[in-house]
Amino acid sequence: MLNIILFGPPGSGKGTQAANLVEKYNLQHVSTGDLLREEKAKETPLGLQAQKFMDQGKLVPDEVVIGMISSKLDQMADKVKGFIFDGFPRTVAQAEALDKLMDLKNIQIASVLALDVSEEELVKRILKRGETSNRADDRDEDTIRQRVTEYENKTAPVATYYGEQNKLTRIAGEGTPEAIFDLLSEQMDGLVGA
Ligand code: AMP
Repeated sequence: MLNIILFGPPGSGKGTQAANLVEKYNLQHVSTGDLLREEKAKETPLGLQAQKFMDQGKLVPDEVVIGMISSKLDQMADKVKGFIFDGFPRTVAQAEALDKLMDLKNIQIASVLALDVSEEELVKRILKRGETSNRADDRDEDTIRQRVTEYENKTAPVATYYGEQNKLTRIAGEGTPEAIFDLLSEQMDGLVGA
């Protein structure tokens, strides 16, 4: 299996690039944001619990997200060529839990591809996305900045975690989507050939 984490702050292009990579490399996309929005739309207990955090731009508690990922891995690990995780892990506790879940299945994360984008560019991109995304958390600048703050405080340390495992590659995330996809593809081709 080839398992990749697409890492970066909100608005760094993870969703867009994950969709491109899934198509080119035939991997399974796992976005915890999408999974949580599905739960919210279905008004499940998990969705209702997550909603208040999401609306405030805060991270949903680790145990909720880890439980969701655990059942995805159980459902799919033996049916797919690999996973692209997008928006997960977002805390060091989630990264540790993912390592444990993967160990149980004898699989690993091959690489963490991290998209670097400045805060002002992130806010601009998310507000633009908010014009069409139908997401309340994309429309309010305070909520967007709160999401960036959560990223800096809780998620950025995840890059260090994978850096210590020699799995982190940083990619310039500003430029045309096509140019960024080329940079990601270069990395992916190296991994596929490895
Ligand atoms: P995203 O679509 O990745 O931008 O996620 C939207 C929102 O869902 C985030 O602002 C969080 O409230 C929540 N969320 C998504 N993924 C996670 C995660 N791995 N851990 C905690 N909260 C998450």
